[in-house]
Amino acid sequence: MAESISNAVGHKVAGKVAIITGGASGIGAATARLFADEGARMVVIADIQDELGNEVAASIGSHRCSFVHCDVTDEDRVKHLVESTVNTHGQLDIMFSNAGIVSPSTQTVLDLKFSEFDRLFAVNVRGMAACVKEAARAMVEKGVRGSIVCTGSVAGSHGIPRRTDYSMSKHAVLGLVRAASVQLAGHGIRVNCVSPNGIATPLTCKLHGLEMEEMQKVYGQLARLKGVVFTPKHVADAVLFLSSDDSQFVTGHDLVVDGSHVPLK
Ligand code: NAD
Repeated sequence: MAESISNAVGHKVAGKVAIITGGASGIGAATARLFADEGARMVVIADIQDELGNEVAASIGSHRCSFVHCDVTDEDRVKHLVESTVNTHGQLDIMFSNAGIVSPSTQTVLDLKFSEFDRLFAVNVRGMAACVKEAARAMVEKGVRGSIVCTGSVAGSHGIPRRTDYSMSKHAVLGLVRAASVQLAGHGIRVNCVSPNGIATPLTCKLHGLEMEEMQKVYGQLARLKGVVFTPKHVADAVLFLSSDDSQFVTGHDLVVDGSHVPLK
């Protein structure tokens, strides 16, 4: 623990134990690094990409970060993830429920593919709810006034021309956050949402078959704000705010990180 604090450049989450789902890549990995830099006692990355997850954890340092294989669609695995974290590290202070996918096809309402739809909902909605449920239960049991942050999207608060299933799933995340924030407030547990604009990550690069820089240029058109290239670190900064005492009286909030979103046509 002493080593972790001496390596840290900040202390916004000093001494905290955090789980980050989808932490092997993109926004989750950037947040894992930031939490470790900000003094987290332990960041547990939970993901299905074992090699990448282990690599990210090792690059942060085994004294501050570990990897656990966990498919969020499996409630028992999520339960085990939270239990093993609490058993090993004493408690859970922060759950960043971030794992999410997009369907292979673009899915307008006219051509919804329900096998893809069901798979997407199993990860983006049921998986998200399982993480909130298990984290909240552990926090309530230990009397921890913790913080839960879920990853939504700008597609969760308005209609989009394609990817109906994705937009629906992110609307559901907002519903989950709003309900859970009301239900858990009496326990001192805060639940918030972070909603990024389109951002170049392995998820979107793979989807569009583009390199990171090309993807950044494409997504640059989705923000009116100029002069800043949108990166996962910007989202991680918002998650850090929602996870730390800087947002002590903020709950049930959807923090959009969108550089003034330009809706897709
Ligand atoms: P990413 O693909 O880089 O990271 C997502 C991670 O989630 C991956 O490591 C993946 O292995 C993991 N994951 C997928 N299914 C899982 C499962 N069943 N169990 C556990 N882990 C699983 O993508 P990203 O862009 O960093 O996405 C992170 C979150 O941000 C997602 O919820 C996504 O919907 C959301 N988001 C992304 C964008 C964007 O444009 N990239 C915009 C808004 C919201």
